[in-house]
Amino acid sequence: MEKLAVNGGKPTRKKFLVFGSPLISNDEINEVVKTLRSGWIGTGPKVARFEENFKKYIGAKYAVAVSSCTAGLHLSMLVSGVKEGDEVITTPMTFVATINSITHTGAKPILVDIKRETLNIDTDLIEKKIKKKTKAILPVHFAGRACNMKKINDLAKKYKLKIINDAAHAIETEYNNKKIGTFGDLTAYSFYVTKNIMTAEGGMIVTDNEKYANMIKIYALHGMSKDAWKRFSDEGFKHYFVVTPGFKYNMTDIQASLGIHQLEKIEKYAKRREAIWQFYNKEFKDLPLILPSPAGKNEFHAKHLYTILVQLEKLKVSRDKILSALQKEGIGVGVHYLAIHLHPYYKEKYKFRYGDFPEAEFVSERTISLPFSPKLTDSDIIDVSKAVRKVISWFSK
Ligand SMILES: *Cc1c(COP(=O)(O)O)cnc(C)c1O
Repeated sequence: MEKLAVNGGKPTRKKFLVFGSPLISNDEINEVVKTLRSGWIGTGPKVARFEENFKKYIGAKYAVAVSSCTAGLHLSMLVSGVKEGDEVITTPMTFVATINSITHTGAKPILVDIKRETLNIDTDLIEKKIKKKTKAILPVHFAGRACNMKKINDLAKKYKLKIINDAAHAIETEYNNKKIGTFGDLTAYSFYVTKNIMTAEGGMIVTDNEKYANMIKIYALHGMSKDAWKRFSDEGFKHYFVVTPGFKYNMTDIQASLGIHQLEKIEKYAKRREAIWQFYNKEFKDLPLILPSPAGKNEFHAKHLYTILVQLEKLKVSRDKILSALQKEGIGVGVHYLAIHLHPYYKEKYKFRYGDFPEAEFVSERTISLPFSPKLTDSDIIDVSKAVRKVISWFSK
């Protein structure tokens, strides 16, 4: 049976538009095949090349590829000394991985409410949460918009805190005309399928600190003192020695094969997303929606997500009703995010209550992420626009 749209008629699209589908071309496909045929598919020369290219792109001294951003955040905290009993300050408006990685170190995540306009941590509220146990600030650059790094740097200096960036959305992000990965002590990136560039699964840590980079390499591969691929190379047999009980967080050459070519296209992809962003802004400006705010001065917004906030006061239904209606129109949508303190585990464990972070709650109840991949064609984005207009108009008071 054909699914009916909100008005009982035909949905805007017959073929469902998947949210966050990556753009993959022959370069990536050929490179993966070449790697498979090369006989070396684990961590090897392609990972080394991807790290080299990535650190140049960011302008950092060291880059270490890992299996995910979650792994990257975990190791970044470990090497900068975050441990059981410590506290790490971050935002409630993030993916659960940010908070899970803090929890994995044994430290406690301390949430600070966001600014509604930027969706980033409200830096004016950080200082009163700093205690003796506070070891680090973990800024999440939401949707690719830079946090107020001047303020965060000043606080970190004053209280001797580490800064670890969650740059899962923010590969291209610039603050003061410099890449966000050049601020703070360590920065972790994600190459999950929906991110601005992807390796199916994968992540990267960049830092200017040689000691951190070396420790991360060791931690990411069982705590062994030598790379596995050097062990089996023609340089002669080398023993490995375990120096710490590490993790299995390495990236493979198959993933790096994707990453190398995705990185070459990062600017092309960003331009396409910029055009989609401008198109949506124009299409939606007369609807009861709060549209995403632009970047600040001397900043580059990585535009990872296009998130709208529905103005509930002007609508007859909840945001969730709008989400379902859009899906029925054939448009895949996302929610970024349900605030961390509203998830059952964290609510229970840290005794959070509804009302603790009113701005994050405001956003949680209203936000919708629309399809925003460079893969989208002009006709796809016209469909998105038509469906949004249809659904919002239908449910308007
Ligand atoms: C995607 C994401 C992560 C986790 O990335 P993985 O590579 O999937 O581990 C962490 N933080 C934020 C803000 C994200 O969006």
